[in-house]
Amino acid sequence: MKLYNSLTRTKDEFFTHTPGRVEMYTCGPTVYHYAHIGNLRSYIMEDILEKYLRYSGYDVNRVMNITDVGHLTSDGDTGDDKMLKGAKREHKTVMEIAKFYTDAFFADCKKLNIAIPKTVVPATSYIGEFIRVIQVLLDKGYAYESGGNIYFDTSKLDKYYVFNDFDEEDLEVGVREGVEADGNKRNKTDFVLWFTKSKFEDQELKWESPWGVGYPGWHIECSCISLKNNGEYLDLHCGGIDNAFPHHTNEIAQSEAYLGHKWCSQWFHVHHLNTDGGKMSKSKGEFLTVSLLEQKGYDPMVYRFFCLQSHYRRSLVFSYPNLDNAATAYSKLVAKVAALLGAQGTPDEEACNQLRSDFRAAMDNDLNTSLAITAVYNLFKSDADSATKLAMIKEFDSVLSLNLIEAAKKLSQQGSGYDEELPQEVTELLEKRKAARKEKNFALADELRDKIAELGYTVEETRQGTIVRKKD
Ligand SMILES: [Zn+2]
Repeated sequence: MKLYNSLTRTKDEFFTHTPGRVEMYTCGPTVYHYAHIGNLRSYIMEDILEKYLRYSGYDVNRVMNITDVGHLTSDGDTGDDKMLKGAKREHKTVMEIAKFYTDAFFADCKKLNIAIPKTVVPATSYIGEFIRVIQVLLDKGYAYESGGNIYFDTSKLDKYYVFNDFDEEDLEVGVREGVEADGNKRNKTDFVLWFTKSKFEDQELKWESPWGVGYPGWHIECSCISLKNNGEYLDLHCGGIDNAFPHHTNEIAQSEAYLGHKWCSQWFHVHHLNTDGGKMSKSKGEFLTVSLLEQKGYDPMVYRFFCLQSHYRRSLVFSYPNLDNAATAYSKLVAKVAALLGAQGTPDEEACNQLRSDFRAAMDNDLNTSLAITAVYNLFKSDADSATKLAMIKEFDSVLSLNLIEAAKKLSQQGSGYDEELPQEVTELLEKRKAARKEKNFALADELRDKIAELGYTVEETRQGTIVRKKD
């Protein structure tokens, strides 16, 4: 499998430190508010990546943090505490906010068929571990105390600007975002490991440390949680492209300073979801959540399908007309699957291998989900028999997770699964036939079936419902 690696900036052959096993880490959400659908795009693509690695035979150990402390409004350690902002907004405690939005995040994941990583660690449960690693960084001379806080000294590294396409001026995060720069830093790229002298008088969450009462910085969380649960060699680190700098740059700095050797070999970054007005955010324009899409009548699977239709390294533009197009394409796909449901017999192994190779070629090419969906469409056009096609749909959907079989079954039960693709004349005859069968007027039902046949369609009753097929 070839995967684009943000570290080398090329598509490289995927490899692991231990053969057959992938140590994978995902930056989790900061649980101060609902995730917007742009955030969730990253989790959908990371989910597909994990499932495809498993499909390819790897044993995957995936770990994720939940940020419930330490993340300030600027990723460069300035601005307000996000959790505290959430608590003030809703007149709740920080831990109440954390619990509520962690649950909301997992509920969204469930709706979007995103599997929860095996290990999920809230940052507040690892305070002792953060303190231990920060102490090692201090002992090794990579960190210093200034103005009451502990900072990482980026000047001690041979190379810091990994992932950084910004120029020097952009690094002055404080200036750029209109917040006061931190005068305690020795170098402008230094970052906070531990806030000892809280800049927030009413900081709720604070812990004892060798440097005084305080709380951890955001970046140290991911390094510590991964080191503890993935070991010293991380194969794959995932996140949204926003996280690349400074967050991931800082994760590398701390982890490699702590370990004394290279830490993570491959970095997977998912690009932005944009609206017509630019990058999606919680504060600008309509706050787009999964629940909002549902309220507007969209199946969350349609949003997943919409994401899979484009490559993860391209910005994707969200608009309702675009989502409508995805909804139409998705229901057509489900209708095609529904037509296969009654299929009997054993799949043909040779035909399976051929269909499989198209799907794999797409996914092996830097996780090209849009081509993988084309491979699914091509499957319907192939000469393979229905049993083979159905078996392959099931197999591919174990990776794509579009609920294709479930949705197709539901459609068949409703008996209205074919309306979109059928001429109106046929649909009307089907409705009349359905009514006739309901009244047990089988003579009329047969008559109507013949009329449908004259129009070029066969009708078949199966356990899954009425199957209508165009005659070849
Ligand atoms: Zn992280």
